[in-house]
Amino acid sequence: MRIILLGPAGSGKGTQGELIERHYGFPRISTGDLLRLEVQKGTELGKTVAEVMKSGQLVADELVLRVVKNRINDPDCRAGYVLDGYPRTLNQALLLEKIDDDRPEIVLEIKISEEAVMERLAGRRVCPGCGAVYNINNSKAISGGRCPACGAGLTVRNDDRPEVIKERFRIYRETIGPLLEHYSRKKVLFQVDGQRTVEEVFGSIRSILDDRMARRQEESRRP
Ligand code: AMP
Repeated sequence: MRIILLGPAGSGKGTQGELIERHYGFPRISTGDLLRLEVQKGTELGKTVAEVMKSGQLVADELVLRVVKNRINDPDCRAGYVLDGYPRTLNQALLLEKIDDDRPEIVLEIKISEEAVMERLAGRRVCPGCGAVYNINNSKAISGGRCPACGAGLTVRNDDRPEVIKERFRIYRETIGPLLEHYSRKKVLFQVDGQRTVEEVFGSIRSILDDRMARRQEESRRP
């Protein structure tokens, strides 16, 4: 099973991806996290992509494909995985289908307005210590600016500045159309309203996933 989360930055893909991982046991793969790790470690790839990421532009397809390919070949991905932030273009979707072709797919598009994204991302804080993500708009626990989980000082992601958030949203709108058409043609695309509470959004996602998985099981039992 391959679950693909589509939606602009700030739509909640990361949060929902983690909930899916916890509930269904499929690991969440965030290409943004994998690339940020390369930057942090100072690898050749990290050095190549750092500036592009800082500006909110997309990293070249062949570079992102490399990190995706490495990760989905890990043994914990055998039964399935959740992709958060990949594919972002039609070409990336086609490349993915080439390297891991006969997996059943469910694609969830989390819909949200630009205004809501601006508000959410302006409040996003990340922990450089343990990687936890918080939002100052809905978490009193982080008012001291420290991570409640590990105590490290929280920071703002360098691509969460308002002008970069706008640019990322613009790029999303510009590139998502062909991707949605592709998955809609494959009849694997489902839409979810992202402007509700985390629990409400996950409730919708769960009913879609449970329904699709039950159907698949039934189909596979048919003679
Ligand atoms: P994210 O954490 O998903 O918001 O990604 C952060 C940044 O990583 C993006 O703004 C891009 O620069 C880069 N990135 C992540 N995933 C991809 C992808 N599938 N294709 C191209 N660039 C990506």
